[in-house]
Amino acid sequence: MEYNYVVVGAGMAGATAARALAEAGKKVLVIEKNDHIAGHCHDYKNTDGITVHTYGPHIFHTNDKDAWEWANRFTNFIYYQHRVLSYAHGRYIPFPINRDTIAELFGTELSINEVQQFLQDEIEHSSFELPLANFRDAVVSQVGETLYQTFFENYTRKQWGRDPEELSADLAKRIPVRNNRDDRYFSDVYQGIPAAGYTGMISNMLDHPEITVQLQSDYLKVRSTMSPEMTVYTGEIDRFFDYCFGKLEYRSLRLEFRTYEQKQYQRAAVVNYPNDYDWTRITEFKQLSGEISDRTTLCFEYPSAEGEPYYIVPDDRNSAMRDEYMEKAAELEAAGTHLFIGRLAEYTYYNMDQVITATLQKINKLL
Ligand SMILES: Cc1cc2nc3c(=O)[nH]c(=O)nc-3n(C[C@H](O)[C@H](O)[C@H](O)COP(=O)(O)OP(=O)(O)OC[C@H]3O[C@@H](n4cnc5c(N)ncnc54)[C@H](O)[C@@H]3O)c2cc1C
Repeated sequence: MEYNYVVVGAGMAGATAARALAEAGKKVLVIEKNDHIAGHCHDYKNTDGITVHTYGPHIFHTNDKDAWEWANRFTNFIYYQHRVLSYAHGRYIPFPINRDTIAELFGTELSINEVQQFLQDEIEHSSFELPLANFRDAVVSQVGETLYQTFFENYTRKQWGRDPEELSADLAKRIPVRNNRDDRYFSDVYQGIPAAGYTGMISNMLDHPEITVQLQSDYLKVRSTMSPEMTVYTGEIDRFFDYCFGKLEYRSLRLEFRTYEQKQYQRAAVVNYPNDYDWTRITEFKQLSGEISDRTTLCFEYPSAEGEPYYIVPDDRNSAMRDEYMEKAAELEAAGTHLFIGRLAEYTYYNMDQVITATLQKINKLL
């Protein structure tokens, strides 16, 4: 087959790049090592008619109109505003922190104007170091010790497998706190769940006469046989360069899917468990999509050091190593032979909209 461009990976970054290139008249071969498209956004409908997110719950949310319009070209969106409850002290408490969180936890009904002063008092009665030494101090300096201990301390331990004192203060630069009673998890202007599913949305993106998709092929095993004008790489950056500076670390998840014989399991689509049980959160998928079924499918998330690369670990060692790899990538980009895009190729935590924006920017610059 004739093609000018090879795109490695059929996730959000790869599919967006492939589509933008194809619309500019390029012939594109997309190579994906998995047996499915859509990367980490992959979803599917199970036998109970419930859309399950294979790699954990995904909510599309953005303030970027261009990213929203791009996504809407390939699917309609179901109106959805994400809400999360946090199970603490035997109660289900709204999270992120808002007036109702404070009322539920402290038994104090505040007005909008009193929230800042309340937090200020909490902070003054707490101890932390300045300049901020670590994640714990960063959170306590914004919300005080009680809210930190209730929602952040143990959750962070579970999520990262490390003490909050060992993690960078940068991970908690700005803890969202609402003075009002807005309990939505995201405050972005555009939010929703793709009516076609994420897999359907990405399938529509790849559905173009100039795009060919080849599944179950690891590019790094066949790259010596290919000589395209350009390669857009969305896989792991350290693997691309044969781990020449070492292996970048990822935090993984073990996901346990359970279907129960009941219509509804919990009071919100996602419930966090900061302090109790081994899992960090439970997602009830039908609450994301609004699908109706007599049964319900849940996802229990257990963080793990081993497995599929989910979250980057932004500590000093990994950040320094990332910079070395990105320098090598920049040389290939300057030579005009490669582009490196997406969460794995840039070793950056990106939301889906950020992946779309970053990809379109790079491809438009190239074109
Ligand atoms: C648990 C979890 C929840 C999330 N929730 C949200 C959310 O609610 N909202 C949000 O906006 N974002 C969310 N995200 C982030 C979102 O998943 C990412 O932004 C997005 O999936 C990144 O797309 P990508 O194309 O960069 O990477 P990926 O989806 O990982 O795609 C990369 C693809 O490249 C393929 N590949 C890699 N190496 C090779 C190779 N050598 N040869 C061939 N193919 C290769 C991989 O198999 C994969 O399919 C979440 C992430 C996680 C982990």
